[in-house]
Amino acid sequence: MNILPSHWYNIVPDLPKPLPPPRDPEDDYIFSRIELLPKLFPSELLDQEFTAERYIQIPGEVLDAYRRIGRPTPLVRAVNLERLLNTPARIYFKREDLSPTGSHKINTALAQAYYAKKEGVQMLTTETSAGQWGSALACACAMFDIRCLVFMTRSSYIRKPYRRILMKLYGADVVPSPSDRTEIGRRLLMENQEHPGSLGIAISEAVETCMKDGSAKYAVGSVMNFVLLHQTVIGLETMRQLEEIGEIPDVMIGCVGGGSNFSGFIFPFIGNRLKDGDFKNTEFIAVESKASPKMTEGSYIYEHGDTAGYLPMLKMYTVGRSYVPPPIHAAGLRYHAAAPILSLLIKEGLVKAVAYTQEEVLEAARVFARVEGIVPAPETAHAVKQAIVEAEHCRRRNLKKTIILCFSGHGLLDLSVFEEYGTY
Ligand SMILES: *Cc1c(COP(=O)(O)O)cnc(C)c1O
Repeated sequence: MNILPSHWYNIVPDLPKPLPPPRDPEDDYIFSRIELLPKLFPSELLDQEFTAERYIQIPGEVLDAYRRIGRPTPLVRAVNLERLLNTPARIYFKREDLSPTGSHKINTALAQAYYAKKEGVQMLTTETSAGQWGSALACACAMFDIRCLVFMTRSSYIRKPYRRILMKLYGADVVPSPSDRTEIGRRLLMENQEHPGSLGIAISEAVETCMKDGSAKYAVGSVMNFVLLHQTVIGLETMRQLEEIGEIPDVMIGCVGGGSNFSGFIFPFIGNRLKDGDFKNTEFIAVESKASPKMTEGSYIYEHGDTAGYLPMLKMYTVGRSYVPPPIHAAGLRYHAAAPILSLLIKEGLVKAVAYTQEEVLEAARVFARVEGIVPAPETAHAVKQAIVEAEHCRRRNLKKTIILCFSGHGLLDLSVFEEYGTY
């Protein structure tokens, strides 16, 4: 069987309710954020953002790039973890940690770099904090020979050198944000030369660069429909791999920052349920950090995707764009909202959400590393924790469930986290 799919799957036409469209703010309307979109994104990506087409063909060059970075990725049974937990459940994990930059983010980075290159864009700009998204984009830009400018929050730039070095190794231009490259950056630097920066400021700098430089476009690591679309390569592969071994998932689990790895993992399955009535008994569980509890404690409202309010408002579960989460190590889960499509599925009761503390998930990561030999990223550790909770439930009730988790990334560049927590 050919595991790597030829098309991405767009769940939008199969949703139980129409997806609320993006909107401009009414109260502080300074400019139309929606009219700004064509300045920010390559046109094919904007088409994908709003399309009602169910299947979008993956361009040959992107498929080829997927193959070269190791797709399809393996689906592995966690036999040692099952034995340790003494559970009758079977636990499988989809290994998105095997990519060159160690996470699923490359799946969309490659597509975004490809479309930008195809449309004659000279440079992609973006923001990053811990550097997982920045390094995925830098890698993709290197592969498609396009320039990459990454605004990295100054605090991470100083404290987290390894992904900064990795981005530079790929040839990206990495600047600490706020920087002297933009007006907003210069203004903030004048107030404070050592300004630690924030994702909101870094986004503003990346967006300002595109507004001024017509040959530059903006790349985004999560939340937008087209990002979730590209990530469905994860779920489509998983579905074929499960078919091959004759398994039907009872529980599918993933961690949620903006929601891209989890959505990409489950949308093909939920889509089949909505279209054809398959996977009726499968439970879909989204795991977030208690430090940014948008799905378990937030509200389903219109909010800007970014802290600065440059991007259109989207209807989603959010704790509010000005919410400042406590400093946790799963930087990828600090985001204030869950993607609009995922939010709608939660609202409609198709996806369940749970939240854990940092201590709980790092302990789960330690357990997993000791038996399976693979160190989960602090983000991924949230999904691992939930898989362990499910497997223990199965032990108590003697249930032979099939549990599948999306292993979004490895933690080899986050080892200091484990030292700080004394988890080892
Ligand atoms: C960025 C990241 C996440 C969170 O982002 P999503 O868009 O929710 O997938 C999760 N895991 C890893 C390893 C990440 O790098």
